[in-house]
Amino acid sequence: MQIKLQFLGAARNVTGSRHLVEANGARILVDCGFYQERQFAERNWEPLAVPPNTIDAVLLTHAHLDHCGLLPKLVRDGFKGRIYCTAATAEIVQIILLDSAHIQEEDAKYKRKRHKREGRKGPYPEVPLYTAADAEACFPLFSKVKYRQSVDLGSDLETTFYDAGHVLGSSIIRVKVRHGGQERIILFSGDIGRPDRPIVCDPTVFDAADYVFIESTYGDRVHQGPEDTKKEIAEVINSTKKAGGKIIVPSFALERSQEVLYYINELLLEDAIPRLTVFLDSPMAASITKVFKHHPELFDEEMTEFMDRHESPFNFPGLKIVQSTKESKAINRIRGTIMVIAGSGMCTGGRVKHHLVNNITEPRNTIMFVGYQATGTLGRLIVEGKKEVRILGQQYPVRARIARINGFSAHADRDELFEWLTELKTPPKKLFVVHGEDKSAQHFGDYVRRKTGWDVIVPTYKDHVTLD
Ligand SMILES: [Zn+2]
Repeated sequence: MQIKLQFLGAARNVTGSRHLVEANGARILVDCGFYQERQFAERNWEPLAVPPNTIDAVLLTHAHLDHCGLLPKLVRDGFKGRIYCTAATAEIVQIILLDSAHIQEEDAKYKRKRHKREGRKGPYPEVPLYTAADAEACFPLFSKVKYRQSVDLGSDLETTFYDAGHVLGSSIIRVKVRHGGQERIILFSGDIGRPDRPIVCDPTVFDAADYVFIESTYGDRVHQGPEDTKKEIAEVINSTKKAGGKIIVPSFALERSQEVLYYINELLLEDAIPRLTVFLDSPMAASITKVFKHHPELFDEEMTEFMDRHESPFNFPGLKIVQSTKESKAINRIRGTIMVIAGSGMCTGGRVKHHLVNNITEPRNTIMFVGYQATGTLGRLIVEGKKEVRILGQQYPVRARIARINGFSAHADRDELFEWLTELKTPPKKLFVVHGEDKSAQHFGDYVRRKTGWDVIVPTYKDHVTLD
């Protein structure tokens, strides 16, 4: 038995997940993610460590850009195999990749213009990393898999997907390698959700695996708890209503926007907040919400019960889906308390920037943050309490109330990750800690080693390991 692993991303950093498995003469790539951290952006442009046409299949854990965002490049560069993922993931990935291609095309255009004006050349080519046509070329390659149904990959390799409870359709992937009468199980955690979150199910646990990859986004942190997310949202809405202001919610299009709608609907049904108009001002979030509606089989018990009693948690009196830019601009002219949910989640682009420009200087308004704000983003500056911020090229004083709703994390914390691992009845031969900042990954690796004595590896970019 010989299995070779290569860590091609999310190794001592969070984004760009790509893990290469070589066994029985076949090559399988688990995830093909985009690097979102600025300092690693050049890795998006580098050729893959092995020629894409030598890869037999891609297994996709979920639809976040840092797990699927380099598929168009892989396919353009020669990959011809199948891309296995759940049906919900396949549907959401298409929306995400087209949006990403659009951003790449806009970026290249903008850079060309700017470099021409400044008479210089940038570090990367002034062409899009990939185009909408490159993204579309991936779509026929998707093979949809169901949770808990094994798929034969050929070469005595087999894979099974299990619910990861992170975002709709997200998976933990199990790969079985058979050779010379023996078999080995490799488990890829993907991103692991948290127990008891709305909409999606709790993460699946496992009692055996030979080799395990585990994410460590929050490997050095323990979430505060118990948080009462719904109560916090109600407080923001009620106090802003009293002040006569507006509520702007910078939000991620996948999962977070739907969770916010879910909570607001519940609060309305409980009469905990007054009726108000809520604008979902993100065409991408609206498209993704439609995918949620196609897949009620993926909802957890609470959500299924909710669906039995009420029509849809993503639809309530007062909810308005905004498509065109013209409609989006018209929101500014509305008086009185309204809520606007718009992307991007960290205020790095999208329509939320315009809503911030129009609302951040008014003390009656509230900017309500519901997601992680990475270092260096506009969102981070605002939550850190900057008195003045630059938006769309101009300085604005921050006078609106800044609220942060805790309890929205889609990632398990250190204790939850550890609990998930220790469901294994026998220690794995090796544990690989990936998908975490250096500090977080190392902390989690040390923690597991100290508590269990397991063989723990915290790989770095392009590391190889040969397993038996
Ligand atoms: Zn994710």
